[in-house]
Amino acid sequence: MTETAISALHAAFARQRAAFAAEPRRTLSQRLKDLFALQTALKKHETAIAEVISADFGHRAPAETQLAEVSFLLADLRHTRRHLARWADTRPVPVEMTLKPGKAYIRREPKGVVGIISPWNYPVQLALAPLIAAIAAGNRVMIKPSELTPKTSAFLKQFLGALFDEDLVSVIEGGADIASAFSALPFDHILFTGSTAVGRKVAESAAKNLTPVTLELGGKSPAVIAPDYDVREAAKTLSWGKFFNAGQTCIAPDYVLVPREKLHVFTEAALAEIRDMWVNSANHADYTAIISERHFDRLNAMVEAARSAGDSVHQVEELAQNTNTRHFAPTLILNPARDSAVMREEIFGPIWPIIAYDSLDDAIAYIRQGDHPLALYAYAKNTDTARQIIRRTQSGGASINVPFLHMSVADLPFGGVGASGYGAYHGEHGFLTFTHQRGVFEAPSWHPLKWIRPPYGRLFKALNWLQSR
Ligand code: NAD
Repeated sequence: MTETAISALHAAFARQRAAFAAEPRRTLSQRLKDLFALQTALKKHETAIAEVISADFGHRAPAETQLAEVSFLLADLRHTRRHLARWADTRPVPVEMTLKPGKAYIRREPKGVVGIISPWNYPVQLALAPLIAAIAAGNRVMIKPSELTPKTSAFLKQFLGALFDEDLVSVIEGGADIASAFSALPFDHILFTGSTAVGRKVAESAAKNLTPVTLELGGKSPAVIAPDYDVREAAKTLSWGKFFNAGQTCIAPDYVLVPREKLHVFTEAALAEIRDMWVNSANHADYTAIISERHFDRLNAMVEAARSAGDSVHQVEELAQNTNTRHFAPTLILNPARDSAVMREEIFGPIWPIIAYDSLDDAIAYIRQGDHPLALYAYAKNTDTARQIIRRTQSGGASINVPFLHMSVADLPFGGVGASGYGAYHGEHGFLTFTHQRGVFEAPSWHPLKWIRPPYGRLFKALNWLQSR
């Protein structure tokens, strides 16, 4: 950790603090202008974004960047710009008779200087979606992107530097040491996206400053296919969701629970779907590579452990690593033990445990034994069955009969519960995450409170009676 990098970090923070103190209320039109500038620039740099992320991954399917990074952000920007005036408005609150003729309202004010720490798996979306919410709410923002996508981090610094003054938005590059110094700054809010282990450190560090934190973490998100659902149909969307971004997605269906008698039909159907979707694209163009050698080796070790344990392992070899790429063959593992690495850790790669269950009660019990996941997918023909699965489990969010889509609904809160995190963002929930809701009571200069004072007499008793009725 160089002294210079740390001094630059502190200087950037001091600049933003001073700017917030000098101009604590950026107007609605300033914020809308910033959001529009970001929207225009994103459209203009679509191709550059796809290229730079791909360079960091070794290969990132361009369509996946388009869908999950650029289009996602453009939709978010449109939605935020459309609703911002309403979100930012002061809200009147009714007052009790005894407090009249005073009035009460909630002012939605920016928190101040906000820190965003983002991971590598969707390096543009997960840095910019919190940024959109934070600047919409009128804050100044510092972003610390992941060191595992250094080219994208450098791109973000240049891209945002061209749009915003550094005292409004700044990007701090660097590794875990800089990240740790970053999370020790007395921000007015930190939004962290990443692993549970690092999230815990960020929360500890922020607690020293009483900085509120939103933790967007991961976990093992299950998919359950109810007995009444056609497993071949489920294999279509679930395999897409699992192997999108080669499984490096926080809300990917980590493992799937299937009725015991349908285990083999599902496995065959999933293998066929994977071949159908990805094998035919030229040079694996639609299939994303693994972010680093270290991650690749970790996934290999999981598969080797399953083989040594005697588990049935099926790989789509056609999609395996070829010269100089880190493509990892999609791998299905049937019924791995609960205490195997693949069932203990979040997989975060293209390895898919398929677990047979005997009754839906057993499947639900299996999910409930683990930590609360970030997402849960319930597949059932009968909607009541799907809702029952949701009712009897806990997770950050959930989708029925499709993967992912709860995160695409602009006004659904997106966040975890328990080990998958706390707090949420997206849409108005994101705006509120970075907003201080300030309660104000406004009394006229002649408010009768001036008569309520010791020695307490008849007026006090009457008012007290009215209030405690
Ligand atoms: P990570 O926790 O290793 O790193 C995330 C960020 O934290 C990086 O910017 C890193 O530099 C920084 N960091 C590292 N050490 C730090 C420290 N001591 N103090 C402060 N910051 C530190 O996570 P990752 O490997 O980049 O991402 C994968 C994880 O993120 C998975 O668990 C995944 O499920 C989760 N994730 C969650 C969401 C979500 O929305 N909930 C989205 C994407 C990824």
